[in-house]
Amino acid sequence: MTDDRTLVLLKPDAVSRGLTGLILARYEAKGLRIVALRQRMVTPDLAAKHYEEHHGRPYYDTLVEFITSGPVVSLVLEGERAIEVVRLMNGSTDAGVAAPGTIRGDYSLYYQRNIVHASDSPENAAREIALWFQPDEVAPRAST
Ligand code: ADP
Ligand code: MG
Repeated sequence: MTDDRTLVLLKPDAVSRGLTGLILARYEAKGLRIVALRQRMVTPDLAAKHYEEHHGRPYYDTLVEFITSGPVVSLVLEGERAIEVVRLMNGSTDAGVAAPGTIRGDYSLYYQRNIVHASDSPENAAREIALWFQPDEVAPRAST
Protein backbone atom coordinates (compact mmCIF):
# COMPACT_ATOMS: atom_id res chain seq x y z
CA MET A 1 0.00 0.00 0.00
CA THR A 2 1.27 3.48 -0.84
CA ASP A 3 1.96 5.61 2.21
CA ASP A 4 -0.25 8.65 2.79
CA ARG A 5 1.02 12.19 2.46
CA THR A 6 -0.56 15.05 4.40
CA LEU A 7 -0.09 18.82 4.52
CA VAL A 8 0.74 20.24 7.95
CA LEU A 9 1.03 23.90 8.97
CA LEU A 10 2.66 25.21 12.12
CA LYS A 11 0.57 28.35 12.53
CA PRO A 12 1.96 31.77 13.56
CA ASP A 13 1.39 31.07 17.27
CA ALA A 14 3.55 27.93 17.11
CA VAL A 15 6.37 29.65 15.21
CA SER A 16 6.41 32.84 17.31
CA ARG A 17 6.45 30.85 20.54
CA GLY A 18 9.49 28.86 19.39
CA LEU A 19 7.66 25.53 19.24
CA THR A 20 8.75 24.60 15.69
CA GLY A 21 11.51 22.14 16.61
CA LEU A 22 9.54 20.58 19.42
CA ILE A 23 6.50 19.88 17.21
CA LEU A 24 8.56 18.60 14.28
CA ALA A 25 10.36 16.27 16.70
CA ARG A 26 7.04 14.81 17.85
CA TYR A 27 6.04 13.94 14.28
CA GLU A 28 9.46 12.48 13.52
CA ALA A 29 9.54 10.48 16.75
CA LYS A 30 6.18 8.95 15.75
CA GLY A 31 7.87 7.65 12.60
CA LEU A 32 6.47 10.13 10.08
CA ARG A 33 8.89 11.38 7.43
CA ILE A 34 9.26 15.06 6.47
CA VAL A 35 9.25 15.08 2.64
CA ALA A 36 8.90 18.88 2.20
CA LEU A 37 9.50 21.79 4.56
CA ARG A 38 9.61 25.58 4.40
CA GLN A 39 8.82 28.72 6.37
CA ARG A 40 7.07 31.69 4.77
CA MET A 41 4.71 34.59 5.24
CA VAL A 42 1.28 33.59 3.91
CA THR A 43 -0.26 35.91 1.33
CA PRO A 44 -3.97 36.76 1.58
CA ASP A 45 -4.45 34.91 -1.73
CA LEU A 46 -2.87 31.69 -0.42
CA ALA A 47 -4.86 31.99 2.82
CA ALA A 48 -8.13 32.39 0.89
CA LYS A 49 -7.38 29.32 -1.25
CA HIS A 50 -6.31 27.23 1.73
CA TYR A 51 -9.44 28.10 3.73
CA GLU A 52 -11.89 28.22 0.78
CA GLU A 53 -14.34 25.78 2.45
CA HIS A 54 -14.66 28.19 5.41
CA HIS A 55 -15.54 31.23 3.30
CA GLY A 56 -18.62 32.98 4.72
CA ARG A 57 -18.36 31.42 8.19
CA PRO A 58 -18.49 33.86 11.16
CA TYR A 59 -14.84 33.22 12.09
CA TYR A 60 -13.49 33.45 8.51
CA ASP A 61 -12.07 36.99 8.61
CA THR A 62 -10.19 36.45 11.87
CA LEU A 63 -8.96 33.09 10.57
CA VAL A 64 -7.34 34.71 7.52
CA GLU A 65 -6.04 37.58 9.67
CA PHE A 66 -4.40 35.10 12.02
CA ILE A 67 -2.77 32.84 9.41
CA THR A 68 -1.30 35.90 7.62
CA SER A 69 -0.08 37.55 10.86
CA GLY A 70 3.40 36.00 11.02
CA PRO A 71 5.64 33.29 9.59
CA VAL A 72 4.11 29.84 9.07
CA VAL A 73 6.02 26.58 8.66
CA SER A 74 4.49 24.30 6.03
CA LEU A 75 5.47 20.68 5.63
CA VAL A 76 4.43 17.44 4.02
CA LEU A 77 4.50 14.35 6.23
CA GLU A 78 4.57 10.84 4.79
CA GLY A 79 3.78 7.54 6.45
CA GLU A 80 1.28 4.72 6.81
CA ARG A 81 -2.16 6.27 7.52
CA ALA A 82 -0.42 9.64 7.92
CA ILE A 83 -3.60 11.68 7.32
CA GLU A 84 -5.48 9.94 10.16
CA VAL A 85 -2.45 9.68 12.46
CA VAL A 86 -1.53 13.37 12.24
CA ARG A 87 -5.14 14.45 12.92
CA LEU A 88 -5.07 12.27 16.05
CA MET A 89 -1.71 13.67 17.15
CA ASN A 90 -2.96 17.25 16.63
CA GLY A 91 -6.13 16.77 18.69
CA SER A 92 -9.53 18.48 18.65
CA THR A 93 -9.95 21.81 16.85
CA ASP A 94 -10.82 23.66 20.08
CA ALA A 95 -7.39 23.43 21.71
CA GLY A 96 -8.72 24.49 25.10
CA VAL A 97 -10.52 21.17 25.46
CA ALA A 98 -8.27 19.04 23.22
CA ALA A 99 -7.00 15.99 25.07
CA PRO A 100 -3.74 16.37 26.99
CA GLY A 101 -1.06 14.46 25.09
CA THR A 102 -2.17 15.91 21.77
CA ILE A 103 -0.26 18.83 20.27
CA ARG A 104 -3.20 21.23 20.59
CA GLY A 105 -4.05 19.88 24.03
CA ASP A 106 -0.50 20.38 25.26
CA TYR A 107 0.31 23.80 23.78
CA SER A 108 -2.79 25.98 23.41
CA LEU A 109 -5.85 27.19 25.27
CA TYR A 110 -7.66 28.62 22.26
CA TYR A 111 -10.08 27.64 19.50
CA GLN A 112 -8.54 29.73 16.74
CA ARG A 113 -4.91 29.99 17.82
CA ASN A 114 -4.62 26.22 17.84
CA ILE A 115 -0.98 25.72 16.79
CA VAL A 116 -1.34 23.32 13.86
CA HIS A 117 -3.31 22.47 10.74
CA ALA A 118 -3.49 19.07 9.03
CA SER A 119 -5.35 17.81 5.97
CA ASP A 120 -8.54 15.91 6.78
CA SER A 121 -8.95 13.61 3.73
CA PRO A 122 -6.93 12.23 0.80
CA GLU A 123 -8.66 14.70 -1.56
CA ASN A 124 -7.84 17.70 0.63
CA ALA A 125 -4.29 16.45 1.22
CA ALA A 126 -3.63 16.32 -2.53
CA ARG A 127 -5.21 19.76 -3.04
CA GLU A 128 -3.32 21.37 -0.13
CA ILE A 129 0.08 19.84 -0.99
CA ALA A 130 -0.24 21.18 -4.55
CA LEU A 131 -1.27 24.58 -3.16
CA TRP A 132 1.65 24.95 -0.74
CA PHE A 133 4.50 23.27 -2.64
CA GLN A 134 5.89 23.11 -6.16
CA PRO A 135 6.40 19.51 -7.33
CA ASP A 136 10.21 19.87 -7.20
CA GLU A 137 10.07 20.94 -3.51
CA VAL A 138 8.63 17.56 -2.47
CA ALA A 139 10.89 14.50 -2.19
CA PRO A 140 10.07 11.76 -4.68
CA ARG A 141 8.62 8.57 -3.26
CA ALA A 142 11.25 5.99 -2.34
CA SER A 143 11.26 3.11 -4.86
CA THR A 144 10.54 -0.27 -3.27
P1 ADP B 1 -9.40 21.76 11.86
O1 ADP B 1 -8.25 22.75 11.84
O2 ADP B 1 -9.39 20.95 13.12
O3 ADP B 1 -9.48 20.94 10.61
P2 ADP B 1 -11.66 23.28 10.82
O4 ADP B 1 -11.23 22.85 9.45
O5 ADP B 1 -13.08 23.06 11.21
O6 ADP B 1 -10.74 22.63 11.95
O7 ADP B 1 -11.38 24.86 10.98
C1 ADP B 1 -10.20 25.45 10.46
C2 ADP B 1 -9.66 26.41 11.48
O8 ADP B 1 -10.57 27.48 11.66
C3 ADP B 1 -9.47 25.81 12.88
O9 ADP B 1 -8.24 25.14 13.01
C4 ADP B 1 -9.59 27.03 13.76
O10 ADP B 1 -8.34 27.75 13.78
C5 ADP B 1 -10.61 27.89 13.03
N1 ADP B 1 -11.97 27.68 13.51
C6 ADP B 1 -12.84 26.71 13.15
N2 ADP B 1 -14.01 26.82 13.77
C7 ADP B 1 -13.89 27.92 14.57
C8 ADP B 1 -14.76 28.59 15.49
N3 ADP B 1 -16.00 28.16 15.71
N4 ADP B 1 -14.28 29.68 16.14
C9 ADP B 1 -13.03 30.13 15.92
N5 ADP B 1 -12.15 29.55 15.06
C10 ADP B 1 -12.58 28.46 14.41
MG1 MG C 1 -9.87 21.55 8.64
